[in-house]
Amino acid sequence: MAEAVKAAGRQFAEAGLEAPERSAQILICGLLDIGLTELVLDAGNALDVETQSRVASAVARAVNGEPVHRILGRREFYGLELQLNEETLEPRPDTEILVDAALPHVTAIAARQGGCDILDLGTGTGAIALAILSHVKQARALGVDISEKAVLAATQNARRHGLGERFRATTGDWFDNISDRFDVIVSNPPYIRRSDIDGLSDAVRRHDPVRALDGGQDGLDAYRIIARETDKHLRQGGRIVLETGFDQHDAVIALFDKHGLECLERRRDLGGRDRVLAFARKAL
Ligand code: GLN
Repeated sequence: MAEAVKAAGRQFAEAGLEAPERSAQILICGLLDIGLTELVLDAGNALDVETQSRVASAVARAVNGEPVHRILGRREFYGLELQLNEETLEPRPDTEILVDAALPHVTAIAARQGGCDILDLGTGTGAIALAILSHVKQARALGVDISEKAVLAATQNARRHGLGERFRATTGDWFDNISDRFDVIVSNPPYIRRSDIDGLSDAVRRHDPVRALDGGQDGLDAYRIIARETDKHLRQGGRIVLETGFDQHDAVIALFDKHGLECLERRRDLGGRDRVLAFARKAL
């Protein structure tokens, strides 16, 4: 087993992939459905022929630039293993900051009211909503996504984690099919400038769905819609927490300000770049 990981790591290094050894471990542990501890304990075990061939074809896909979590079809986010499909963005560690920023609001509202209704716009795998629900037992969430396949992935992910009773997903274009109001709205909308998409890494450009990335000419299309519609969908005392591109904080704050929403908090990501904003209605 250790041999297989080493060999894969060497191939990844030769192909110029990032973190080749770590990627080889993730890929092979994932394929065998074992943890790192088992990998170490079983290091000397040989792989059977069928497993060898599964490993070989997965390694070939990775060498060809496909991200290891795409190959496995799943990725961990905020301690939850989530299934991906071709219409869901692969959840990113930086998006966990959005969950960190939303949780205190959800917890406070749930403590005050005995419940908290959350709307996750562009839910994808359901990552953000499900992470929040797994930490706040009285919260419920609705996930909206324009992709039916994403809605399916999010629904299945909720069931797998025992959150199916408190999570529902539906197809829709942002707020188009939504008439309710919510205590907390969260979203990681597409925010890449259209002209920047060609310059993204191969892994993102070729394997993440472009609809989850393309934020229009200036990257702000989704924020314009969300800023305009939020007032109609946010309850009294509600909060909206959003991921943004690293250079978009000021522009997004200005957009929301025009619609009566004030920025309460700005957070940076793991690399120290601007990434998350939280808003509330301005006091009258
Ligand atoms: N963070 C993603 C990336 O640059 C973009 C996600 C998004 O547009 N919401 O890879």
